[in-house]
Amino acid sequence: MSTVGTQLGAFIGGQWVAGDGEEIEVLNPTTGDVIGTIVTSSDAQVDHAVQAAKEAFESWRRRAVLERVELCRHAFTLCEERLEETSEMISREVGKPIRDSRIEMRRGTVEHFRRAAEDVLRKAGKVLPDSMETSNTKRIIVVQEPVGVVAAISPWNFPIDIAAIPIIYGLALGCTVVWKPSEYAPFCAQLFADVLHDAGFPNGTVNVVNGRGDTGSALVRHADVGAVVFTGSVETGEKVARDAGLKNRVLELGGNGPQIVLKDADIDKAADAAARGCFFLSGQCCTAAERVLVEESIKDEFVEALRQRAGALRIGDPMQEETDMGPLRTAAVLARTQAHIQDAVDKGASVVYGGSFHDQFHDPTIVDGVTSDMRIAREETFGPVAPIMTFSSIEEAIAIANETDFGLTAAVFTRSLDDAWYVAEELRHGTVHVNRSTNTWDQLAAFGGMKKSGTGRELSTWIIDALTETKQITFSPRER
Ligand code: NDP
Repeated sequence: MSTVGTQLGAFIGGQWVAGDGEEIEVLNPTTGDVIGTIVTSSDAQVDHAVQAAKEAFESWRRRAVLERVELCRHAFTLCEERLEETSEMISREVGKPIRDSRIEMRRGTVEHFRRAAEDVLRKAGKVLPDSMETSNTKRIIVVQEPVGVVAAISPWNFPIDIAAIPIIYGLALGCTVVWKPSEYAPFCAQLFADVLHDAGFPNGTVNVVNGRGDTGSALVRHADVGAVVFTGSVETGEKVARDAGLKNRVLELGGNGPQIVLKDADIDKAADAAARGCFFLSGQCCTAAERVLVEESIKDEFVEALRQRAGALRIGDPMQEETDMGPLRTAAVLARTQAHIQDAVDKGASVVYGGSFHDQFHDPTIVDGVTSDMRIAREETFGPVAPIMTFSSIEEAIAIANETDFGLTAAVFTRSLDDAWYVAEELRHGTVHVNRSTNTWDQLAAFGGMKKSGTGRELSTWIIDALTETKQITFSPRER
């Protein structure tokens, strides 16, 4: 195991080596203290990591599936044993409340090992009939083979769980991986890379390069990378799409999710969901409720219910068990949150709860009277804000919910099965929850976005297409 806190370089061919680029200090967003320093990887070091992964692929893809499965099972146990250490590092680096860091590790990351092990054991190909000839001397077998080297590029808000999906599924399928973690969360990534190595995944099957966008870009552009799995903002995702060219790819990008509350909804339930949707992880979630659309006649009652929930949130040190909301991770997110609130107020909205910040801590905030022309309604804020918009018919709610370039997650609250079904089918979002917060997931369900929220699907078996090449093999058995 490596030592956390020293200068962190790259993990290549089974060992940590010094980076060959510039130094970057990693700050704790809660205290402002330096957690450690990373040294970035140049294009040449990225190439070195990809070559290590390419070399390892040739033997790894030929190993028995049961051997890969056994290593996943071993890693499941080891990752669980080290769960507390990794969770604490996530909270220090990202400011995520410790209870939520544990959930990221326990229900997301650790379970990916078990799910991947089960899924690859049950992954079946297909045998097709001959539809072109009349001789009955052809058999067509369709198989999915590992694509080769997978580039995994991850954001800081779920720094391990999100990266772990392509890493673990890639390994289980016989791919090898080069991972570029976020520059804001490299030390929890170091701990996770150590879990994989110590679990016994062979040298070169998992590699890590650290750095900013240029390191990520060198990885995405590398000719020997077969698939790119990227999670991050739309802006970066568009660059990654261009750089990836014809490679397999999954792009999981930003959101501007609507939560629609119809007048027959259970208001307590809808307010609970909005509090989770808007304030979980201080709003720094791709699936956040970035717009809360409430039917005009129940708006005042709903806003009051949401105010009560915002008032009950405990904001503070993410390492404390009772904390609900920690700091915003970066100064840019804080500045954007404030700019969106100010723009809304300038255009006629009013702050009815919160609105202030100190250091990196921002109040849970409710902004009433939001309209479609405001930045807060059009762009991803990524801060702890509930922008309240109103509508007077289902058609109007659907139109507002769909008037966005994004299409990741939406929610509708109603007691009418008919209305729920209608709205769910009309919304152009990759996930629609009925009477559940936008900030909920199931690890077996297809996850991904429409429009600018991305392309491809992940979680469980849904990512397999991107990590494999589909091949047909035809046989000519003897004529009978
Ligand atoms: P960014 O897009 O800023 O960064 C994501 C990753 O890409 C980071 O590792 C970053 O490195 C790297 N990167 C930056 N530029 C390039 C480049 N040109 N080529 C390759 N890689 C690059 O996103 P954030 O980390 O700020 O994450 C927040 C965003 O992620 C939000 O928009 C959120 O909605 C989205 N997200 C989407 C999810 C989904 O599943 N749809 C889930 C979680 C988050 P560095 O950190 O060094 O800049």
